[in-house]
Amino acid sequence: MKLLTQIAQHAARNPEQIAFRTEDEVLNYRVLWDRSSRLASLIHTTQPERQTPVVVYGHMGMDMPISFLACVQAGHPYIPVDISIPMERVRLIVEKSGAGLVINTTDSMLDFDNVTVLDVQGLQLEQEELISDGYWVKPDEVFYIIYTSGSTGNPKGVQIAAANLQSFTDWMTDDFPLGQGKVFLNQAPFSFDLSVMDFYPALQSGGTIHALEKAVTNKPKIMFENLSRSGLQIWTSTPSFVQMCFPNPDFNQKMLPELEVFLFCGEVLPLAVAKELKERFPRARIFNTYGPTEATVAVTSIEITEDLLAKEKALPVGYPKSDMSILVVDDSGNPLPEGEKGELILAGPSVSKGYLGEPLLTENAFGMVNGMNAYRTGDAGIIRDGLVYCQGRLDYQIKLHGYRMELEEIEFHLNQSEYIKAAIIIPYAPSEEIEYLIAAVVPGDHKFEKEYQLTAAIRKDLALRLPAYMIPRKFTYHTAIPMTMNGKADRKKMKEEVFA
Ligand code: AMP
Repeated sequence: MKLLTQIAQHAARNPEQIAFRTEDEVLNYRVLWDRSSRLASLIHTTQPERQTPVVVYGHMGMDMPISFLACVQAGHPYIPVDISIPMERVRLIVEKSGAGLVINTTDSMLDFDNVTVLDVQGLQLEQEELISDGYWVKPDEVFYIIYTSGSTGNPKGVQIAAANLQSFTDWMTDDFPLGQGKVFLNQAPFSFDLSVMDFYPALQSGGTIHALEKAVTNKPKIMFENLSRSGLQIWTSTPSFVQMCFPNPDFNQKMLPELEVFLFCGEVLPLAVAKELKERFPRARIFNTYGPTEATVAVTSIEITEDLLAKEKALPVGYPKSDMSILVVDDSGNPLPEGEKGELILAGPSVSKGYLGEPLLTENAFGMVNGMNAYRTGDAGIIRDGLVYCQGRLDYQIKLHGYRMELEEIEFHLNQSEYIKAAIIIPYAPSEEIEYLIAAVVPGDHKFEKEYQLTAAIRKDLALRLPAYMIPRKFTYHTAIPMTMNGKADRKKMKEEVFA
């Protein structure tokens, strides 16, 4: 695989170049390649059956990139699982994926039924051999699996093949002004595919990944100190993250004098955010990109120029990458003419082959268009002069502060709670972005005198099953959920009641 070959070449030519760094750790290309290749031999010995998934558990330490590359060199896909994911959900992922091995990059003790845990911190690997490239993941084999929120209550694993990833990485390095050997920001934890947007383009181009761990982003003072020392050249984040930096007036080109490019993906890039960035960073170019995890990070892009900002009321998400077709279809799946609004369908070599072990979910969302894998995004959109515009969702998948989630998944878990008879989630969105979630709850029998005690108990329950970012900020209590004529929960009426 070209990507792996190029990483090996960087390691041979520029061994001391930094591949990955965090606040406390620095990993050069030599150690990255050497350790991952030896760890691959160990994985191969314990997991001889190719393509059995390997869960890689941790946050943003250097053992994460080492383990990812080790898995794929041994012919196995990896499943990145961040420490922010509750243990019950981690267990579900380990079990449902059929993982044969969990690589633990943390110092916490992990234990799973019938699955070996390999603790890699400080693991001696010198006695292992470097693995041969004959074992590497092949183009049609799965390279990584990322779990996203699922509407039935369980996360679903999107399988990305080596060829999907190669197509994405080539597009990034060929069509964007990323150059060679640049310093890339990695803001998103590895369990989100936004992290792939900087991780592999950086490694393919011999660059440095500058990762911001949660402990850093949680403390603005530390984060801005870190950024001012970073020498960042390519910024990759959600628009929400860059907006989080705006309260600091010093967040500008003086703080990041070498910054050349902003790459955004994952949610709407508000016009006001792009305008403000242009003022703060007059020397940097800004790109909006769009795509779901199912089509390998992003499949459209556009540079946000002054002209575009002056012309558009809502920013487009861009032109399709050259090997992708994007169609707009009506409710029955028939293609619509240019300029008409419908569902966006993506077809081409970036599209995944489906969800791991979920034939029904896969059949519903994936298909073939002109002999190419195609994915129904659930995004409403329109194409004008070849330019794609996203116009919201057709279902209950949302983005909150950059995180993708299905309202139905949160509702599923709320409805499992012993304190709840029925519940629905209402997003609070005073403008084009959702600010927080409200759970409208019909309580079951409970022992609590006060509502806040009930809320605390429900939150505790939810925290066992859902990541913190999916837990509603507010809870309101009601006697019944209003119904529509056809017996479905009437979200509109409920919303009116909540905000009455
Ligand atoms: P994820 O799988 O987490 O990348 O989420 C994919 C979804 O995020 C898409 O289907 C869209 O709904 C939304 N999305 C991604 N990029 C953009 C963008 N640039 N503008 C608007 N929505 C976006």
